[in-house]
Amino acid sequence: MFNKNIIAAFEQKETPFYYYDLDLLRATLNEALKEAQVHGFHVHYALKANFNDRVLKTIQQSGIGADCVSGNEVLKAIEIGFDRNMIVFAGVGKSDKEILSALEHDIFAFNVESVQELEIIGGLAQKKNKIAKVALRINPNVDAQTHKYITTGLDENKFGIKTWELNDCLELIKKYPSLELIGLHFHVGSQIVDMNVFKSLCVKVNEFNNWFDERGYRLKVLNVGGGLGVDYTNPDGEPIVDFRRYFEIFNKFLERKGDQEVHFELGRALVSQCGSLISRVLYVKNGIKKNFLILDAGMTELMRPALYQAYHKIEHLSGSEIEMHEKELVHYDVVGPICESTDCFGKEVELPVSHRGDMIAIRTAGAYGEVMASKYNLRDEIRYVYNDEIQ
Ligand SMILES: *Cc1c(COP(=O)(O)O)cnc(C)c1O
Repeated sequence: MFNKNIIAAFEQKETPFYYYDLDLLRATLNEALKEAQVHGFHVHYALKANFNDRVLKTIQQSGIGADCVSGNEVLKAIEIGFDRNMIVFAGVGKSDKEILSALEHDIFAFNVESVQELEIIGGLAQKKNKIAKVALRINPNVDAQTHKYITTGLDENKFGIKTWELNDCLELIKKYPSLELIGLHFHVGSQIVDMNVFKSLCVKVNEFNNWFDERGYRLKVLNVGGGLGVDYTNPDGEPIVDFRRYFEIFNKFLERKGDQEVHFELGRALVSQCGSLISRVLYVKNGIKKNFLILDAGMTELMRPALYQAYHKIEHLSGSEIEMHEKELVHYDVVGPICESTDCFGKEVELPVSHRGDMIAIRTAGAYGEVMASKYNLRDEIRYVYNDEIQ
């Protein structure tokens, strides 16, 4: 991904910074849209994965919709130019202020996560003389087979409405004419690489779809969420995930009734490979048990390793390729400067013998990277560089 010219340009920059390859992002979006359109599927982008302005603008220009999980994300999506009619709003804890703002902006739908929330939205919409279009987020008790911190569709998770609460939901929908039930919503987890999980999800969606149909509700939208995983170990092997295989599963196993629409909310699969965190080695500490590379980037720039024990490929960028082959390899614990022991990007990482000032890339960092940056330790504001600024 990084040729000599790019690395030379990096050398001129203050580190750390996020590097975004917007061409790869465009290629990824085109591929996702192309494969979705084969089956007439609709794709939304989950803003929470990355809301960097140019990344968002590139996504908006591709014609994709927006999936938001806060009132500010809804406002951001509108500001960037996403079609309001393609904005959905999910989240377990929507405040009254956020609900009112979304009603005001006439978004496409609320993905409702509890019976109580449904009643609140119904009441607020009634007061404002608005119709709130709602999809019920059902927790289908499907195991995403992913890290437990990014599993969301099990009974023990806080997300979604439990199946035994659906009758209560229908009561409320009858009670409030301000509520228009347009569909069902599911999102069972993130970084899902086992396609059987999506197969199981389809089976559940079909059951719920039938349940509503039997009760006289022909729903317009089946929203199956996101969660498609990417390859963190070999980012250059498959820079664009296999969208064809993914969408084909839903086409094969989901039973659409009439002209029901199928919606997806992809985050990670669209943006993760286009971003890398670029850093320099500040210090090399050789110990008895461990060698440490201390970088100028830490968990304040990329929190995923500290937060979910996530793996990111770490690449040494300095030195020509011929030199690199001849270099001796050493095992380093690659750590950041933050005062926390969890501030570690990788343990026992095999890298060429490294020196102060060497450039390091932490790959597959476009999703849940920059958006989680924090000011802890009063760190600098995060910086970023786009490929078209340096080529
Ligand atoms: C986070 C989230 C997504 C996107 O998840 P990815 O794993 O990044 O695809 C989609 N829908 C909802 C409701 C979410 O919370």
